[in-house]
Amino acid sequence: MTNLRIPGPTPCPDHVLQAMSRQMINHRGPEFAAILKRVTSNLQTLFQTKNDVLILTSGGTGAMEAMVVNFLSPGDHVIVVSVGVFGDRFAQICEAYGARVTRLAFPLGEAADPAQLDAALAANPDVKAVLVTHNETSTGVTNDLEALAAVINKHGKLSIVDAISSLGSIRLPVDAWGLDVVGTGSQKGWMVPPGLAMVSVSERAWKAYEQARMPRFYFDLKKAKDFFEKGQTPWTPAISVFYALDVALQQLVEEGIDNVVARHQRIADLARAGVEELGLELLVKNPAWRSNTVTAIVVPEGVDGPAVSKLLREEYDVVIGGGQGALTGKIWRLGHLGYCTEADIEDALAKMKLALERVGFSPSGVGAVTGG
Ligand SMILES: *Cc1c(COP(=O)(O)O)cnc(C)c1O
Repeated sequence: MTNLRIPGPTPCPDHVLQAMSRQMINHRGPEFAAILKRVTSNLQTLFQTKNDVLILTSGGTGAMEAMVVNFLSPGDHVIVVSVGVFGDRFAQICEAYGARVTRLAFPLGEAADPAQLDAALAANPDVKAVLVTHNETSTGVTNDLEALAAVINKHGKLSIVDAISSLGSIRLPVDAWGLDVVGTGSQKGWMVPPGLAMVSVSERAWKAYEQARMPRFYFDLKKAKDFFEKGQTPWTPAISVFYALDVALQQLVEEGIDNVVARHQRIADLARAGVEELGLELLVKNPAWRSNTVTAIVVPEGVDGPAVSKLLREEYDVVIGGGQGALTGKIWRLGHLGYCTEADIEDALAKMKLALERVGFSPSGVGAVTGG
């Protein structure tokens, strides 16, 4: 079986996939209402929030768009904190809808500096909202969202967070950190196929909604909230993905969010140790910034990164990610979120060692992790 080690879509447990083979039901009937209610309540538990959590039939980028168009007006000044491709995407969406964007960008492989955000907010008192990526999947950096949220709240601004590849995997207590709008997608740490996006909305964000004038229709979150009260979604939902999410969330709630977070930490530690043992360098130099859901590995001098990925895929049945944007061809990305075991990581690293040897790169050592 293919060892799919990209940072989403992630593999799903068999029982989650089997749940999807159930017959369709009326999405305006009592059976769907019960699923919607249970799924929403379990999401609130895992988001660690009492805020509304609304579920959209969409990919993660749809959640990002919903988080922009429901709370802002054309001409609003926003700060977008960007540490990579997904931060830049947030800025692009804001611009597409007419917001005035100040980009606060940091070098690839580094996290955002809360002190610089503090200074930017002090210098721009007219800013309405701060948009930030919690876990930058393109570089394997996790921002210190707790510190960034404290700065945003100190200035009384709305926080809008892309937590697509972190929620349900990396610690993110939404209420304890005072976050207004936080979104994620089913195909990342949730062990579910792509198709659903989940967004939490605070009281303060609903107040901003009342003033917000950006155009919106399919992603109108107030419509989603109103229909939720009736046990429905405004439009036909991806019912099969709901079946899967229902089963996966029950499993995660049973495990407990702290244990889920600890499991991701443990597997990420194993991945990083294994990569370094292969004689490879991590893109993220500061250990405090390294993501527990995806590890970015620097392609060594003289090695053809995409050729190694191709060899892994074609001959070893391991699929890893490559670099995006400015990092194309310069890094590999190893996903370890959701349904991923120590054995999956050991297998990927052992095969990577073989592929690297075949392209003439000699790894520095062999140890417990990769010795196989
Ligand atoms: C995957 C991802 C997205 C985009 O999600 P899609 O489902 O591909 O639209 C956005 N932000 C982050 C941080 C992601 O990891």
